[in-house]
Amino acid sequence: MPESVEVRAPATGTLLDEVEVTAPDEVQTLVDRARAAQAAWTQRPLEERGAVVDAFQRRVLDHRRELASAVAREAGKPFREALVADVLPTLDMARSLDEHGAEVLEGSTARLENPLLKDRTSRVDRTPVGVVAVIAPWNYPLAIPATQTLTALYAGNAVVLKPSEKTPLVGERLVEHLHAAGVPEDVLGLAQGAGDTGQALVEAGPNKVLFTGSEAVGRKVRRQAAEQGAEATLELGGNDAALVLDDARVDLAARGVAWAAFTNAGQTCAAVERCYVHEAIADDVIDRTAELARNLNLGSPEDPDTDVGPLIDEAAVDRVDAHVQDALDKGASLEAGGSRRESLGACFFEPTVLADVDEASAIMREETFGPVLPIVAVPDASTAVERANDTRYGLTASVWTTRSDRGDELAAKLDAGTVTVNDHAYTYAACETPWGGVKASGNGVTHGRWGLEDVTRIKHVNHARPDRATSPWYFPYDEDLERLADDGLELVYGRKLEGLSALPAAIRRLVGADDRG
Ligand code: NDP
Repeated sequence: MPESVEVRAPATGTLLDEVEVTAPDEVQTLVDRARAAQAAWTQRPLEERGAVVDAFQRRVLDHRRELASAVAREAGKPFREALVADVLPTLDMARSLDEHGAEVLEGSTARLENPLLKDRTSRVDRTPVGVVAVIAPWNYPLAIPATQTLTALYAGNAVVLKPSEKTPLVGERLVEHLHAAGVPEDVLGLAQGAGDTGQALVEAGPNKVLFTGSEAVGRKVRRQAAEQGAEATLELGGNDAALVLDDARVDLAARGVAWAAFTNAGQTCAAVERCYVHEAIADDVIDRTAELARNLNLGSPEDPDTDVGPLIDEAAVDRVDAHVQDALDKGASLEAGGSRRESLGACFFEPTVLADVDEASAIMREETFGPVLPIVAVPDASTAVERANDTRYGLTASVWTTRSDRGDELAAKLDAGTVTVNDHAYTYAACETPWGGVKASGNGVTHGRWGLEDVTRIKHVNHARPDRATSPWYFPYDEDLERLADDGLELVYGRKLEGLSALPAAIRRLVGADDRG
């Protein structure tokens, strides 16, 4: 295992820093300390943890430009995009927890409708799971670990965060801000590394793993977590489709689909990776998206004029290039882009639009994770749905239509965790809404009330009156019990009057007239 990880700027290849790797025994110590510290953290009143979240929000707001610059430098996305796509969701999660978190965590009552149980009460509390391991990717290096870590901490868990080895510095800043806002040192640990640290963290015995990353690693995490008896919420890759119907507003759909394909240089889990357009408007959509792609400024993430920055590394460019070549070899037509932009650096690839793409192409079957928009004309909406669902992934999908009933109708047929009508992917930043995929895109949910529920357990507390004589099902198993059960079942579940004959026996047992039991 290396002792340190080199952090390089994808735009220039410049060495930004070297980060010390956390050895497996130190990872174990972080988890042990977190477990010991969690007891006191969870006993703090919720308002106190809420105040820490508020203080963190204030700090992020005050340091927003600095944080966005750090994201731009390390992940390569344009500074302005980092403000919107990384800083905004971080702030929004803090706001959402402040406004709705208490209501979710305060628990609820379950009404007991069985007439025999009318004098009982049941309360359902939410308790933290314990220690949560957050293993995060590099593509939204602030928003993803921040929203997950905040949610887990607010619910009363301790957290050990493992940022991506490609963006460890943003992870470090996040943890510094949370500590400065009042999260105790041991309640939030930071494990850094490449190669073994994530696995060491899962093996250190957290109660829950929140993993966001590739499908291949996600599968390993699921297995390793299960071996440790830990739960795993997996937010994995996608191959998301946009369906543009014949009644869509073409200008809006073209702009929206182009944004969702090219934002973050296409390195978004929920990027539009396939676009199915009704043949009546396909030429128009292809022309407009191609023009938009040609007009995007490719450049340095720190240049204010940049729309699209570099990919994360050269391996990512090689994969995108191979997918584009494969599609062209299988007969696709190139409408815009299609090449590396070596004059800018080794990691730049032009925003690319392909049309008439064969469904067997790698670009249609696998996650490309690059700035490429493949468009396929289809004769009708049902073909679009069929093709959209013909993938092992199921993260998000979008339907573009001016008729909301058609949007709902198709949403019901699409296999995806989220379906947006007339927009795509943006709901990650709408923190009251759930985020999670189906099929190979993962399991479990982050964000919204469901995200809070995901890092808590249900604790059911039931009260029976201490001044009652007995419970009707206690011993002895006599004739009264039989009549009560037999006729009572009829009375309660069959709703038949004959069941009333069970009442005297029921009353006798309830008041304990026969107190042999
Ligand atoms: P990776 O799967 O490469 O994740 C790498 C992380 O996992 C590293 O931190 C690594 O640390 C850790 N890791 C590797 N092996 C293990 C293991 N056996 N046990 C535990 N942790 C391990 O993903 P990327 O960072 O490249 O992220 C890109 C992917 O993430 C894309 O597929 C994208 O679609 C997906 N994604 C999904 C999102 C969603 O919400 N569904 C959102 C954003 C991205 P180490 O090497 O030190 O162990």
